[in-house]
Amino acid sequence: MYQMGLYLLPEGTHADFDKELSRFFWSARDGHQKYHMVKWADVCAPKSLGGIGILDSRRFNVALMLKWVWRILRDDGGLWLQLIKAKYLRGRPLLACERREGSQFWRALQEIKHFIGLGLSFELLRDRLPSGVEVAKRNGPGNGLCPLCGTPETCAHIMFSCSAAQALWGFVSEALGPAWEVQELGEFLQSQANRAGGGRRLFWLVFAAISWSLWNVRNKMVFEKVYPSRVSDPVFSFLAFLQQWSPLVRQRDRAAFDSSMRALRTAAIPLAAPAPPGSAS
Ligand SMILES: [Zn+2]
Repeated sequence: MYQMGLYLLPEGTHADFDKELSRFFWSARDGHQKYHMVKWADVCAPKSLGGIGILDSRRFNVALMLKWVWRILRDDGGLWLQLIKAKYLRGRPLLACERREGSQFWRALQEIKHFIGLGLSFELLRDRLPSGVEVAKRNGPGNGLCPLCGTPETCAHIMFSCSAAQALWGFVSEALGPAWEVQELGEFLQSQANRAGGGRRLFWLVFAAISWSLWNVRNKMVFEKVYPSRVSDPVFSFLAFLQQWSPLVRQRDRAAFDSSMRALRTAAIPLAAPAPPGSAS
């Protein structure tokens, strides 16, 4: 669907949406599975093809909501955005704002906003997010240099060569094994893309969480002048995103995901020393 064209979800995610939605529609209130009277795919078919179009409307809905998230992130909006800013955001970026209570619209945004990172992390990989170099090219603010390294800030720099990225990738390969060591990006992605289904799906989820946390760490530095107070900050932000997206993991990938999660958490324990007094977290 073209609404989904706004951002790119990994292939497995589409199937997960289907599965979760079908479970939702088929389970009775007491949680027992109802008998499937018709094939799920038939129910989801557009009305013109004899289905009842449930899935389409659900997808449409999520996609529309993500458009609002997207517009807030880009500061693209009129009165409605002013209201959201005044009432809920109060100077905080949407993704960092944890206010749960509020209007139905706001609660829906809070519910789904973190999923946008999944798609945006792939935009980063494709060099489509406004890195310092890109902004400078268009005569935007800033000098185009990475605030940590002082070298030209491309998307590739943010994701791989930046010292923050190196620290995070080092952590991940230490926790998950040599398959995660990146020597050369193209080769690395190719070898991961050749993995079997479950391994590949988990790879993209972890990969998205890595790139999304690096992008967020970078934005904090660039826009809020907040620098990581500890080398481990990107690591914990990465773990938090992975945890937020865990509902998207397929049932049959669940055991592998949980064991990766355990390995990552175990590796992170020694990093969780108390922050120096007075530092932002
Ligand atoms: Zn850097």
